[in-house]
Amino acid sequence: MRRLAALVLLLAIACSKSTPENPFKYPFVTPFHLKPQQGKPYSSYKAFYLLTEDFEPRVESPSDIENIRDVLKFASDLSSRNKIQWTHFVDVNALSPAFVSEDQQLKTSCQAMIADLKAMSSGGDDCELHLHGPLVPQLMDFASAQDKLHIKGSTVENAQPYRQRQSFFFHSFYRSGYRQLVASLTYAKKLLEQAVYDGQKEVIAFRPGGWDHGSTSQDTFLYFEALSASGLMANSGLSIGHFGGPDWRIGNDPGRNLATVTVGEKQLFEVSPTAGPGGYVNPVSPSNLAKLAGSLREEMPVIVAVYHLGALQQTAGSEADINKQREALEEHFKNVAELASRTIVYPITLRALLEIMSEQR
Ligand SMILES: [Zn+2]
Repeated sequence: MRRLAALVLLLAIACSKSTPENPFKYPFVTPFHLKPQQGKPYSSYKAFYLLTEDFEPRVESPSDIENIRDVLKFASDLSSRNKIQWTHFVDVNALSPAFVSEDQQLKTSCQAMIADLKAMSSGGDDCELHLHGPLVPQLMDFASAQDKLHIKGSTVENAQPYRQRQSFFFHSFYRSGYRQLVASLTYAKKLLEQAVYDGQKEVIAFRPGGWDHGSTSQDTFLYFEALSASGLMANSGLSIGHFGGPDWRIGNDPGRNLATVTVGEKQLFEVSPTAGPGGYVNPVSPSNLAKLAGSLREEMPVIVAVYHLGALQQTAGSEADINKQREALEEHFKNVAELASRTIVYPITLRALLEIMSEQR
């Protein structure tokens, strides 16, 4: 009897290992498939290609900032030469010296960096929100002094009271912590809208720092509830498996990386990164985009690549490494432009893609 119990236990462990947590199957998440459409500029293409980067540069000194400004110029030249725009997920804490630094030189150079981002947005890039932690306190004070915004609480009555994990959402999550979290998202969204769009356009999407949206259905629901309460309509970061565990996989395959997410009356969109070797499809690592683009027949897949422009900052690695990455990125742009000229991939920003998804919902 004891042996049988042990066997049952072993089987249970084996089963839980073989079925990773899959948020795309949560009751409030519905997989979404983009239908090919006639009469659109992208009608004859096989797939959309969405080039994202998480903008979280080092901004400790004026020279750090001069350095990332050079990188932005490089990235922007690549875009205009190849007609492939970036979607930047901007960590608003990386903009904070422009608003709150007492070092005048640092403040001025950070303002110039924001002006670069703004010029790139005017040129067709998309800027959306990214955070690894709550807004730094000085920035939160600055933002809330400018504008008093209403912050919504959670509707989840039986939420687990404390979280232990080192994460933006789940480290300090407790009932009152939820409000702080929503306050960070709400004010960060507003700051970014003022900084890069002069308040003329909304920031609509979020990507979680460290890809952490939790490992359970309740975690993920709270996560989306917080996004919704902050006025955001999309997320880019749902991953399969238990956060950080051996079964964990960032994003999902083409055709499985889009979803709608229902939170009360609202429906949000999910546009996950495309899972790839080393985590996700990365423009500086080899991947077969043409093969990924042609993987589905009945729908228009979306390939979502992820990069970090901060990886090209001089403090990020040896000069040789950085030069190699720059060359790889140039090569990648050429490759995508070539695939675009053969009507295989249609480069698009997240904002433009979300418009198409809204039309098809
Ligand atoms: Zn990040």
